[in-house]
Amino acid sequence: MLSIAALVTIAHWIPRIFPAWPYHVAHKYLVGAKAAIAKHDENLKKFRFVGGTPEKLPGAVIVVIGESANRDHMKAFNPDYPAETTPWLSKEKDNDNFYLLKNTYSCYPLTEKALSMFLTNINQYNGRDREEMITITDVANKAGYITYFISNQEPSPGNLSLTLVSGASKKSITTANPGGDDMKIMDFLKELPTEESQFIVIHLEGSHDRYRDRVPPHFDGVHVEGQKEKVNDYDSSIKYTDEVLKNIYQYAKDNMNLQAMVYCSDHGEDMKYFHGDSTFTWSMVRTPAFVYLAPDYKKSHTAVADNLRYNENMVFTNDLIYDMVCGILAAPNNEYDRKYDITNADYGLSADKATTKYGKYLISDDVTI
Ligand SMILES: [Zn+2]
Repeated sequence: MLSIAALVTIAHWIPRIFPAWPYHVAHKYLVGAKAAIAKHDENLKKFRFVGGTPEKLPGAVIVVIGESANRDHMKAFNPDYPAETTPWLSKEKDNDNFYLLKNTYSCYPLTEKALSMFLTNINQYNGRDREEMITITDVANKAGYITYFISNQEPSPGNLSLTLVSGASKKSITTANPGGDDMKIMDFLKELPTEESQFIVIHLEGSHDRYRDRVPPHFDGVHVEGQKEKVNDYDSSIKYTDEVLKNIYQYAKDNMNLQAMVYCSDHGEDMKYFHGDSTFTWSMVRTPAFVYLAPDYKKSHTAVADNLRYNENMVFTNDLIYDMVCGILAAPNNEYDRKYDITNADYGLSADKATTKYGKYLISDDVTI
């Protein structure tokens, strides 16, 4: 039933989202999506935990998907930046419970392609394809968490991984005015039960173009003398996202026994070329990522915390979020590989092996570690 419903939704939306698509391309895509959704049900049947079903964490685990955030514009990641664009994170980075993954890259400078790996077991290195998809929400469901999806982006049923995450969540919510104020997420977060083991995926509109539309008029934005207005607008959206993340974190910590929170952007942004499939610049893939682990979580999962601290400066690509989340949930499974899990002692992705744009560029061309 779920597969049919998802397919009908996809068929409904695709022509509206991509009206210029030639029919045969759209048709081919739909047939592919249908096959992938059907396969997903089979994949779920084959899914199993290694070492038995893991013990649930006694509170909330939150994964926040950012949008078009470039860490070069974030003071917490780039101390030389001329403006304080991340007042909250800049303070928390000295907090022992925070881990800033300073050399994170997107796997692809387009939302759909990035998320099809960000949210799933597929990555640039393991040779899996989308007919083998298992999502982070699937893992949380299997482990017994109550799962939620809260989005402030326009529904994009052509985006297979998001469709699967949304469809598998116990409750999937889209804000009334998607693409508008990301802080609206909070209204829905505050409605969730506070005493359960829950797994929440939040999808922000973040810093998507047009940047000034991302920031409410009353917000005290960024104004760097001599910097283009467009760049100031972009930086203001980065600063606003920092405020949104602070609110999510603070509320969940005070009310939901927050165990862990992961934030990572889908891709970065270039101030001239934006992001996309044609021109490639490194700004399009230099994405921020951070993890928060609660004090009680750290006590009961010392290896995860120690490994993450040890690995936090290593190269990380956001197609490996699945393995990291499985590591945080202590939920190894037949779709997990500890050498891709940055919370594991066996993590070993080096800059000359790590890639972006689905293997097209080596990260070692951008950074030497
Ligand atoms: Zn995007």
